[in-house]
Amino acid sequence: MRTHTRAMLTTIEHHGATGYGEAAMVPYYGETHETAADFLGRAAEVLKRHHAPGSDHAIEMIMREIDAISPGNTAAKASVDLALHDLWGKLEDKPLWQLLNLDPTEEPCTSFTLGIDTPDVLRQKLAEAEGFRILKVKLGAGNDRAIIQTIRRESDLPIYVDANQGWQDVHEALDLVHWLSGQNVILIEQPFPKDNLDDAAWLSARSPLPVFADESFHRLDQIQTMASCFHGVNIKLMKCTGISEARHIRAEAYRLGLLQMVGCMTETSCGIYGAALVAALTQFADIDGCWLIKNNPFEMPGLLDGKVVLNERPGLGLRVAPA
Ligand code: MG
Repeated sequence: MRTHTRAMLTTIEHHGATGYGEAAMVPYYGETHETAADFLGRAAEVLKRHHAPGSDHAIEMIMREIDAISPGNTAAKASVDLALHDLWGKLEDKPLWQLLNLDPTEEPCTSFTLGIDTPDVLRQKLAEAEGFRILKVKLGAGNDRAIIQTIRRESDLPIYVDANQGWQDVHEALDLVHWLSGQNVILIEQPFPKDNLDDAAWLSARSPLPVFADESFHRLDQIQTMASCFHGVNIKLMKCTGISEARHIRAEAYRLGLLQMVGCMTETSCGIYGAALVAALTQFADIDGCWLIKNNPFEMPGLLDGKVVLNERPGLGLRVAPA
């Protein structure tokens, strides 16, 4: 079980305003502090050639150049995208949700994640889920029914199941999904290993619950393929290079009839506020990352009726936590 995720905070400054960004680097996507530092050094050279961002379109144009620096590095790229957005909002002295014409009341409830654990620890974690209206449960370690039964003895909240690539056999998976559909489970995420799209398509064609791609899906150029194998996609800023591309993915997924969820890594309030902006256009959100860490340098977002509150502060809405 992973106990920490590498992160790097990025700042972009202009005329006394500071935009904050964040790269949350999960080990399985290969980014490290060294790769991010190297990438951001090259990104700084690109940024020097541009004016401060004055619109989402301007940010998108800059991000195309940033994206072209080298392949991969999606979390480092997302940190630049977040910082540019935050800076834009601060220079305009307006919250990003307003600049992007989003309605904060449209924010979906976010789930709260419970890892694979012993019944005692699960009960303890459920106590920490206070204020959340949906649970996300990681399955795929072989004791899936027992975990759900343990949770159901303590809570009747709706559940998002994340199989985390852990299921092997399609027929067993289908049986399990039928059982889960009777347990107030709402959706299934990443049932099979990420490259096994055939089994994902087989299950999606038969599943009584919507099946979402997470590890199988990173960026916009894969969206058409996803539409033939899954019912929905989990959009994460750290996989797709940030808010600019995430908004395009959201729109394209909608056009293709795919359901959309916005997810996150373990992230500070910075990444979570960015994800919440994209989530305001989607049906599902799993953006609890900053509730799962202990070293958030920013104040926690508000949580109202199980939803992340998009506040009135300029930019992403961050406030540095008192030391
Ligand atoms: Mg997942």
